[in-house]
Amino acid sequence: MRVLQVASEATPFAKTGGLADVVGALPGALTRLGCTVTVALPAYREVFSARRLPVEPTGWEFDVPVGTQTKRATIHQSRIPGKDGAADATVYLVGNDSYFDRPTLYGGAEDYPDNAERFIFFSRAVLELANRFEQPCDIIHSHDWQTGLIPAYQKVLATQWPRLSKARTLHTIHNMAYQGVFWHWDMLLTGIDWRYFNWQQMEYFGQLNLLKTGIVFSDLVSTVSPTYAREIQSAPGGCSLEGVLSDRGDTLVGIVNGIDTDAWNPRTDPHLPRPYDATGVADGKAAAKAALAARLGQVAPDPRPLVAFVGRLAEQKGIGLIFDLLGRMAGSGRARFLILGTGDPRAEDGLRRMASAHPGTIDLVIGFDEGLAHLVQGAADMLLMPSLYEPCGLTQLYALRYGTIPIVRATGGLVDTVVDATDDALCSGTASGFVFDAVDGGALAHAVDRALALHADSDRWSGLVQQVMGQDWSWDSSARKYLRLYERAVAAAPQPVRLP
Ligand code: ADP
Repeated sequence: MRVLQVASEATPFAKTGGLADVVGALPGALTRLGCTVTVALPAYREVFSARRLPVEPTGWEFDVPVGTQTKRATIHQSRIPGKDGAADATVYLVGNDSYFDRPTLYGGAEDYPDNAERFIFFSRAVLELANRFEQPCDIIHSHDWQTGLIPAYQKVLATQWPRLSKARTLHTIHNMAYQGVFWHWDMLLTGIDWRYFNWQQMEYFGQLNLLKTGIVFSDLVSTVSPTYAREIQSAPGGCSLEGVLSDRGDTLVGIVNGIDTDAWNPRTDPHLPRPYDATGVADGKAAAKAALAARLGQVAPDPRPLVAFVGRLAEQKGIGLIFDLLGRMAGSGRARFLILGTGDPRAEDGLRRMASAHPGTIDLVIGFDEGLAHLVQGAADMLLMPSLYEPCGLTQLYALRYGTIPIVRATGGLVDTVVDATDDALCSGTASGFVFDAVDGGALAHAVDRALALHADSDRWSGLVQQVMGQDWSWDSSARKYLRLYERAVAAAPQPVRLP
């Protein structure tokens, strides 16, 4: 099976969130299953400046129509090394300095005003590139709004890329809240006939919607957990596209993300002062706590349980509930809290105020620091993830691997990956965390209370820690599910394209 993965970010080339982790790790898991995998990404400044893997020019250059203009695409090449004897995945980086040689991927507090144009160019350039591959691909797997045009181009402008005509398309949704909605005149830049700008295809309340485009035109649609696949077929989960998604219900599949078990391995993690496995977890966590305390300028590590949050400071992540929790619990002296995150400036300011009101109980690190995220996972006893919605979530899976017990709200992928530690679940060895339902600081505080109570019973707590560290969240089983989906797509007739 020849698979082309197309996305706007992938580790280790460029990352703003979980999408990059998925697109960085899935290719390796697919090559281990015998697929030939190629990845296409934009050649951002970060790809060259960070130089985490060698990037070479290919000498390939071609023109890409963008509206009435043509823009030059320059192609660079790299590889994601295969593991366990599997082949490497080839990575093509689509460059155009005016679009991608910028300080950040999508903009800062405000998105770049030409984001539609940037990803129209990228999507069209990828099809042009894939049409030149020696062997045509069987599957074009695109991700999120940035590449939503790919399935539409492959069908609507099929004659331009004849070597792609037999390919099937899969579009994966990582988060319904980001749809790539732009003013209607951007439709002109796509080169697709205005007749497709209708409410059943590319139009959304008078605007161009690139995620909807991907959902409507692709042969199969997937998202990153079975529960999220159900939630997005009704309001509010579908973020106004619930009708479009339920129309595609029989071709909409949820597959939980795996994790990169090499990058996130407490046994070999270079960010941990004393790497550990399930047998040495107590010592490993104690050493990580000491290193973390030193890093935060503290004289000695706090003996109290450490409850951490690592993630974007966005409403989605339940920041409001965390404020409420800290207000209720910071004065109790029962735990130490650490927040590592960046995002909404108001949330950052509020947390700064909260942390300075409770020195010695709340630690706050504003910023994006990959190494520190690893150290925090190693040091913490519990991880907070009170998300209002969560398509899959990776942070709770990293926590499980590091013996850090997640405290999560019952939504999306958190439902599919964390089992509440009821007495029954603890006895049967299926428990893996603490789950609460209501969007309410009191409900979160109750879950934290339950976790602290179990933590005080060191035998039962360490039993739970051993249990979660033994779970397998590697990509192997998820990649098999993707492969079955690709096989299903290849065996079926393509999704027909009709003008309404
Ligand atoms: P999302 O993709 O919605 O942001 P996920 O849990 O799926 O959430 O993935 C978040 C990824 O980003 C994880 O790899 C997490 O460790 C990382 N991350 C988020 N915020 C930070 C931060 N401030 N510093 C370091 N890593 C972070």
